[in-house]
Amino acid sequence: MYDPKSAKAEEFICHEEIEETLAFAEAHKNDRELIKSIIEKAKELKGLSHRDASVLLACEEEDLNQEVYALAEQIKKDFYGNRIVMFAPLYLSNYCVNGCVYCPYHYKNKTICRKKLTQEEIKKEVIALQDMGHKRLAIESGEDPVNNPIEYILESIKTIYSIQHKNGAIRRVNVNIAATTVENYKKLAEAGIGTYILFQETYHKESYEQLHPTGPKHNYAYHTEAHDRAMEGGIDDVGLGVLFGLEHYRYEFAGILMHAEHLEARFGVGPHTISVPRIRRADDIDPDQFDNGIDDDTFAKICACIRVAVPYTGMIVSTRESKACRERVLHLGVSQISGGSKTSVGGYSEPEPEDENSAQFDVSDNRTLDEVVNWLMQLGYIPSFCTACYREGRTGDRFMQLCKTKQIQNCCHPNALMTLKEYLVDYASPETKAIGEALIQKELANVKSDKVRDIVVERLDKIKEGSRDFRF
Ligand code: SF4
Ligand code: SF4
Repeated sequence: MYDPKSAKAEEFICHEEIEETLAFAEAHKNDRELIKSIIEKAKELKGLSHRDASVLLACEEEDLNQEVYALAEQIKKDFYGNRIVMFAPLYLSNYCVNGCVYCPYHYKNKTICRKKLTQEEIKKEVIALQDMGHKRLAIESGEDPVNNPIEYILESIKTIYSIQHKNGAIRRVNVNIAATTVENYKKLAEAGIGTYILFQETYHKESYEQLHPTGPKHNYAYHTEAHDRAMEGGIDDVGLGVLFGLEHYRYEFAGILMHAEHLEARFGVGPHTISVPRIRRADDIDPDQFDNGIDDDTFAKICACIRVAVPYTGMIVSTRESKACRERVLHLGVSQISGGSKTSVGGYSEPEPEDENSAQFDVSDNRTLDEVVNWLMQLGYIPSFCTACYREGRTGDRFMQLCKTKQIQNCCHPNALMTLKEYLVDYASPETKAIGEALIQKELANVKSDKVRDIVVERLDKIKEGSRDFRF
């Protein structure tokens, strides 16, 4: 029985409801009147139900699809302006007891090089990341109670926050580790993490069980209910994601929106972010072995439909995607991207020798952070290293309230300018610096309040003189 308020995975992600939704969407994919009415509803900026959004995703009327793309772009501008938040993944350990068939860290893989960073090695990685200019990390680790227990993760978070190298600082650590207990989520909350991110991989239970044949992750309900436990443990911001390519994309799309509706219904706060990774080649993984791969057009349409369905949820695209693909979806609603990423364990401080592959996937966008920052500015975006919200207590429903009313923009825009200035002064190449300084001058005119603009101008000068970490 479908019940978004239920605490049981199979009731809030109800297979029958998804099947009915997909049948409804298929039956109405050329229903112009219905599609137009859904687009009108989306223009109210209150989001769409999984059923309505699924109709938009299935829509075969080209002119109406173009309207959806235009609306996604407009919503992106209204809610997020032109800032793009930057982050980097940091792989702590690739030891894993699970048998996920799409990930090279699965325990049976004997060719991958297993590594686990010591606290000393983490320091080196963090210094390398700070020297690139990063302020926000997402830590990643396989599931292994012996090698990567929660104590190791907590110690690593403490180490990361403690390092201040030159003007560098990691100000927000998001955590992407396996589903765990309420007790452990409490410990993560106390350690001051930003968002807890856990990808569902697939919402299709039968496929899920086949794709996770062994290990604790095999338990569909325990995995799917993890975000609920995280919120019960005091983590206000959680991130969702599926791995596109495993199951049919329309199934996953309906599933992820039902999950968002569930969090909203049960906790009054939807997901903080949605990630949209596609399956990539890796050590012993061949993406062609999976039947449900999606092309770039479909990927772009999914991004646009997520944007109009959950306008207040950040959308993340990693370096799994190429420069060209990232450029396309930035317009359609993506608000956060990684840059200069290494997906190996220890790859930032020392390049990995060829015979020591420890990477989770092959990166498609291999540019440096400086190149990515430069490129974003050339496209008219403001690369932002802002981490202000959770440090100012703007999390959970407080954050959502500001986001839904678009007031958050009053913080995002000036914070983007000030953190970009820090980046330009401390880390940018001369060319990037010149483009950035001109962009900041131009963007100052777009700060709506005269009072805020005066404060920003004053703080920009102070940053030039050596002060750091201003925020609204
Ligand atoms: S996806 Fe996660 S749990 Fe599965 S094998 Fe890879 S690291 Fe382990
Ligand atoms: S002000 Fe908050 S929402 Fe805006 S960019 Fe900074 S951390 Fe993100």
